[in-house]
Amino acid sequence: MKSQARVVVIGVVVVGCSVLYHLTKLGWDDVVLLERDELTSGSTWHAAGGMYTINGDPNVAKLQQYSINLYKEIADLSGQDAGVHITGGVMLAASEARLDWLKSLASKGAYLGIETDIISSEEAVELMPLIDPSKFAGAMRTYVDGHLDPSGVTHAYAKEARKLGAEVERFTKVEDLVQNQDGSGRVITNKGDIIAEHVVNAGGLWAREVGRMVGLELPLLAMEHMYLITEDMPEVAAWNRKTGKEIIHAVDFDGELYLRQERGGMLMGTYEQACKPWSPDHTSWDFGHELLEPDIERIAPSLEVGFEHFPAFKNAGIKQIINEPFTFAPDGNPLVGPVRGLRNYWCACAVMAGFSQGGGVGLALSNWIVDGDPGMDIWAMDVARYGKWATPQYTSAKVQENYRRRFSIRYPNETLPAARPLKTTPIYDRLMAAGAQFGDSWGLESALWFAPAGEKDEFSWYRSTDFRYVGDEAQAVRESVGMFEISGFANYTVSGKSAKDWLDRMLACNMPEPGRMVLALMLKEDGRVIGDFTLANITDQNKADDRFFISGSGAAEDYHMRWFERHLPEDGSVSIAAHGAGLTGLSIAGPNARKVLAAVTRTDVSADSFKFMAIAEMNIGQAPALVGRISFTGDLGFEIWCEPAYLNHIYDQLMVAGEPYHITLFGLRALNALRLEKGYGSWSSEYRPIYRPAECGLDRFVKPNKSAEFIGKKALVEGRPNQGVRLRTFVVDVDQADAVSDEPIYFNGEVKGWVTSAGFAHASRVSVALGYVPAEIAGEGDGWEIEIIGKRHKATMQNQPLFDPGGSQMRS
Ligand SMILES: Cc1cc2nc3c(=O)[nH]c(=O)nc-3n(C[C@H](O)[C@H](O)[C@H](O)COP(=O)(O)OP(=O)(O)OC[C@H]3O[C@@H](n4cnc5c(N)ncnc54)[C@H](O)[C@@H]3O)c2cc1C
Repeated sequence: MKSQARVVVIGVVVVGCSVLYHLTKLGWDDVVLLERDELTSGSTWHAAGGMYTINGDPNVAKLQQYSINLYKEIADLSGQDAGVHITGGVMLAASEARLDWLKSLASKGAYLGIETDIISSEEAVELMPLIDPSKFAGAMRTYVDGHLDPSGVTHAYAKEARKLGAEVERFTKVEDLVQNQDGSGRVITNKGDIIAEHVVNAGGLWAREVGRMVGLELPLLAMEHMYLITEDMPEVAAWNRKTGKEIIHAVDFDGELYLRQERGGMLMGTYEQACKPWSPDHTSWDFGHELLEPDIERIAPSLEVGFEHFPAFKNAGIKQIINEPFTFAPDGNPLVGPVRGLRNYWCACAVMAGFSQGGGVGLALSNWIVDGDPGMDIWAMDVARYGKWATPQYTSAKVQENYRRRFSIRYPNETLPAARPLKTTPIYDRLMAAGAQFGDSWGLESALWFAPAGEKDEFSWYRSTDFRYVGDEAQAVRESVGMFEISGFANYTVSGKSAKDWLDRMLACNMPEPGRMVLALMLKEDGRVIGDFTLANITDQNKADDRFFISGSGAAEDYHMRWFERHLPEDGSVSIAAHGAGLTGLSIAGPNARKVLAAVTRTDVSADSFKFMAIAEMNIGQAPALVGRISFTGDLGFEIWCEPAYLNHIYDQLMVAGEPYHITLFGLRALNALRLEKGYGSWSSEYRPIYRPAECGLDRFVKPNKSAEFIGKKALVEGRPNQGVRLRTFVVDVDQADAVSDEPIYFNGEVKGWVTSAGFAHASRVSVALGYVPAEIAGEGDGWEIEIIGKRHKATMQNQPLFDPGGSQMRS
C-alpha cells in the first residue's frame, strides 16, 4: 500500500467508486480507495438496484439522469457487465390529488429534458400487466428508469478506475484521521498510514464514525428497509412470452410500494409507516454482509394495499424477504462537499438512492476537489445546508418523517411537523397568540401567515385558506404599515484592521462609507454569484478598527461561513463572526413605517437625516438596536436588529406605536407576494452559484472599475461564457393555482425556461412568476406560456416591476 496519495477515498461501494472513477477521469490518478472489507460491503450489497430520474428537486433529478446514463459508459469502458436493465416505468396515482402531483412533476421534468407522459390507468395496464386499473386515477410513464446489478456496477467502476491509475485496497480499515501541521491528513489504517492531501468520507453505513474521527457529527441515520422477492409467477412468464420484454418498473405512491421484475418473479419494496431506525447511535465495525431479521408485521399494511392494487401477488409465493439498513439525511438528499472548518475533508454521504444518485455525486465531488467548484448546482445536496442545530435527535425525528413520506405528496403550502419547534425566538408566544401559522426554515420557526381563530392551512395545489388573509397582510403593508420578524436572516460582523480591504476583495460592490449600506454580491473565481448580501459599514469613527455588518440568507449561514473562512488572511488582521441565534430582528415596512419608528426612538429618523440605505445604532424604547433603512418589500422600511433579550420589548413598543396606523403583522407568504411584485429575487431561488450577475439581473451591483481585485472580476472582465439566460418576471393568466417553482416556461410552444419562484402578488392582484429564459429571446414580449399542473397558461413578460418601478416609495 502507498504511504502517500493525493486523495484517499474511504469506502469502496457505489458512491466511493463513483468518486474514484470521476477523479481518475479528470486526470488525478494518485488516488487510493480504502475498503475495510470486500468491494460491496455496506448497504450496496443487498440493494434492490432500482434507478429513477424523477426527484422533487430538479437539480437532483438532473444528476439522477446523469447517473443512469453513466452506467452504460462504465460497463462499455471496463468490459464488466453492470447488469443494467432500462425498462422504463409507470408511476401510479390512486387519487386525483396524486395525479395533479404527477402532472406537476411531469411539467418540471419537461425543461430538464426528462421525457414523461401522463396516461390513464387503462393505458398503464397495457404497460404493466399486474395492475388493477380500477384502483388508479392515472399514471405517469417514464422512459429511462430501470435497475442494475449493484455488485456488477461497483466492480465496473473499480476496474475502470484501476485502469486509469487508481489503487483499491480491500480489507484495509481506516481507524483514525489526524490533521498534520502542514494541513495534510494522516490516514491511519490497520495496514499502516497514508499521508493524503484530501480525504473523502464515502463511508455509507459508517459515515458517522468516519465523521467522528475528525470531530464531526454528520446529520445522517440508517433506517431498516425491506423488500420481498416472489417465486416465479405465471403472469410474469406470460407477459415475457407475449412481449419479449420484462415487466417495467412501477411505483405505487398510495401503497408506498415500488415493484420490478426479478428473474421469473417480482420484487416489491415498501417505505412502511412503522419504520425503524437501525443502530441509532453508532454502527458496529463487525457488521458485514448479514441480513437483518425481516419484520412482516411492519410492512403488512403496505403489502395489503399491494395485493389489492396488483391482484396477481395474492397467489404468488414469497421466496425471500430482505431487510437491510441504508442511510438518510434529514431531507433525504445526500450530504456532499467540503466541511466547514476542516481542511480538505470531503463528504459523499447519506446517498440514500445510491444507484440513481451515486454517479452524479461522484462527478460533482470530483469537480469540486479538482477545480474548487462542483461545476453544477448542487445546493440541495451541499453538506453545508445543515448546521450544528441538526443534532442526532433532530436527525432521527426528521429522517423517520422523511422515510414515512418517501412516497407522499408534498403540497406547496405544506409544513412538516417532525422535530418542531426546535429554534424559536423570544416573540414566538406573542406571534402564536396573534394567530401565526409557523413553518420551519433551517430549524427556526418563522410565521408564514396569521390566521383568525378557526382557520388554518388546508394543504392544496390550488389557492387555499390562507389566500385572502395573506392578501390582507400584503395590502396593509402597501397602504399603511406591517411588521415582519427577520430573525431568520444570517448576520455576520467583520472586524479588524484589514476588514475593509478584505471585504473589498471578497465582494463585487464598492465599500460603503460609515453609516451607509450597499447591496453586495459575492462572486466565485469564475464570476458566478455565490452570495447576495446587504453590507453595512458600522465602523466607530473613534476606534482604529473597521467594523462591518453583513446580512444574508439564513439557510446559507454555514455555506457562506465556509467560503468566508476559506479566504480569511492568516495574520489575524480580519475576523468574522456569524451571529446565529444571537441576533434577532423585526422589520417595519409601508408608507407609515417612519411615523411608527419616530414614535419609539429619540434619534432623528426623518427623511433628510436618516436616508435610504442609512444604518445607525439607536434606542427603540429602552432597548439598544441597530437600525437600517431598507426593506425587502420594496416600501419605505426599516430593519431593526437587537439581542434576543430585547426583542419582546421592541416588539411591544412598535405594536403600541403602530396602533394609530393599524400596524399589521405579516408573514413569509405576504413577504413573498410583496417581493415578487417588486421583482426581487432571493438566494437559492433566483440567485444560485451557477449564474453570473448579468444573468440574474444583478450586474448593476458589480463595480468592475473599482481598484480592488475582487474575486470573480477577471472572469467578468474577460467575459467568460455563461449559461446564456436572463431572469425575467411574468404575469401569468391563471385563476385557481399559481406557479410555485420549477414549472416550465414555453416560448412559441417549446420549453425554453423554468420558473424559480412564483405566487400571487396580492397588492397588484395578479399571479407572478420569476424565471430564467434564454438571453436571445429574453426581450420578446409575446408568445410565452407557463405550465401549471399539466395546463399551459398565457404569460406576459414584464419590463419593469409591478410595484413602484422608479423606487420612489423606498426612497421617500
Ligand atoms: C434493502 C435495500 C434496498 C435498496 N434499494 C435501492 C434501490 O433500489 N435503488 C437505489 O438507488 N438504492 C437502493 N438502496 C440504497 C443503496 O444501497 C445505497 O444508497 C448505497 O448502497 C449507498 O452506497 P454507499 O457507497 O454510500 O454506502 P455503503 O454501501 O454503505 O458503503 C460504504 C462502504 O464504506 C466502507 N467503510 C466504511 N467505513 C470504513 C472505514 N473506516 N475504513 C474502510 N472502509 C470503510 C464500508 O465497508 C462499506 O463498504 C437500497 C438499500 C437497501 C439496504
